[in-house]
Amino acid sequence: MNIALIAHDKKKDDIVRFAIAYNSIFAEHTLYATGTTGSRIMQETGLSIQRFQSGPLGGDQEIGALIANNKMDVVFFFRDPLTVQPHEPDVSALVRLCDVYSVPLATNMGTAEIIIKGLERNDLSWRNIVSEKGDMNEPR
Ligand code: PGA
Repeated sequence: MNIALIAHDKKKDDIVRFAIAYNSIFAEHTLYATGTTGSRIMQETGLSIQRFQSGPLGGDQEIGALIANNKMDVVFFFRDPLTVQPHEPDVSALVRLCDVYSVPLATNMGTAEIIIKGLERNDLSWRNIVSEKGDMNEPR
């Protein structure tokens, strides 16, 4: 499955710890991330990740484009709800697109734990069916 990893600055330590804890599960999937989040996770886990621009420079939108083209199956987006983000419209757009396309989205560690365990148990295999027959112009 294609998995996106994004974390705001104050949540980067959390997403790195999460990726270390579930390294063996992540290693079975194709990983994408915004620039700085991807660098940190790669450095500290050895996982291979395709990196986009940093979030404030358009990385959230690049990931959004994959969602809109039915190419992203799960999004881990550790948002910081207590700090104003310069790219707040991009953050909202990414969350919105996950809802438009029914893409499982974790915006905090609690939900992330549930989704990663679902991935491990193959509970998200319905995404394979959706992605195979997905019409790029037809939201599900
Ligand atoms: P970053 O972007 O991983 O490049 O820091 C994340 C974000 O702020 O959306």
